[in-house]
Amino acid sequence: MKARPKYSIVAPVFNEAGNLRPFYAEIVKALEAVGESWELLIVNDGSTDGSYELMLELAKADQRIGVISFARNFGHQVAVTAGIDYARGEAVILIDADLQDPPALIPRLIAKWKDGYEVVYAVRALRKGERFWKRISAKLFYRLIHRITDINIPVDTGDFRLIDARVAAVLRQMREHHRFIRGMTSWVGYKQTGVEYVREQRVWGETKYPLRKMIAFALDAVTSFSFFPLQIMIYISLILALLSLLVGLVISVLRLTMGEGFFGGQATTIVLLLLLSSFQLFFLFVIGQYVARSYDESRDRPLYVVAATTGLGEASVANQRIAVTMEASVNKNDPLAEANLEAEGDAS
Ligand code: UDP
Ligand code: MG
Repeated sequence: MKARPKYSIVAPVFNEAGNLRPFYAEIVKALEAVGESWELLIVNDGSTDGSYELMLELAKADQRIGVISFARNFGHQVAVTAGIDYARGEAVILIDADLQDPPALIPRLIAKWKDGYEVVYAVRALRKGERFWKRISAKLFYRLIHRITDINIPVDTGDFRLIDARVAAVLRQMREHHRFIRGMTSWVGYKQTGVEYVREQRVWGETKYPLRKMIAFALDAVTSFSFFPLQIMIYISLILALLSLLVGLVISVLRLTMGEGFFGGQATTIVLLLLLSSFQLFFLFVIGQYVARSYDESRDRPLYVVAATTGLGEASVANQRIAVTMEASVNKNDPLAEANLEAEGDAS
């Protein structure tokens, strides 16, 4: 059985074959500077480019690496969730595997944790090499979220952060399917602080967040932490009601003073009808977003399905609570950890 490490590094990976080795090297360098024990948990989120084989190779050569491999692609936020589920460290560090989150910042995150903060998030002071619209939309997005949500989600922070084991324990209990992890860690509370850094360009490969996924992600963020889109309807309905009174009054006066034929208004009527219908359909869409998410939550499917794990300690298997699919599938393909097979035997 492996001893409990001081730090768990959690890295979600979806087709990062060209990044894995340099990423691993940077992690080793950063943590050697800290000089305490650690594990690196790589979550393979359905990669198809040989990333998985590379992970297994790395895990074979380094006992500190654990690999959790999904049965298919479940998405970035879910991959991070799995990493947290399995993490055993006293602090868990969430970091992307494409080196956009510099591992060199980790010692500074750890220093703040040692100062007594339970959450230390990395704040993007500058974003390098990202398209103009991505920078602008990200800036707007973070500010909008900050304004309309009830919790205090700091602007310009991603998931790159350190969380104390206590925070990780709370996150393990939050099984919502539409996940906005940076909001969820803010929700937990405790003492939180930020450390600024420069967000680098991707070292290799393309972003896995095309516009479509970013919009879905933004909708998850808003619906997870705010009822503002639902509440705003009452104001709009009041404004429209007042407007209709006003317009009715004006038209009556005009007709009385200027004669019957003054206000034909067919074109106006059609335009208004279309405009108001579009308002209504838009708000049906808004309601639908909440309804669909409620439906998803009520189905309560497991968040992810694990196909295989490699190089994990026994305790980490006990740690995670998504037992349904796990008991059947966990560790079957794990050549490195006999302890895990025993754990599986105990569970059944
Ligand atoms: N990722 C993942 N599953 C996905 C999409 C992304 O595990 O479905 C990983 C990806 O490999 C990377 C991290 O999540 O390590 C962040 O993704 P990406 O760099 O594409 O996002 P961006 O930095 O462009 O916002
Ligand atoms: Mg990236």
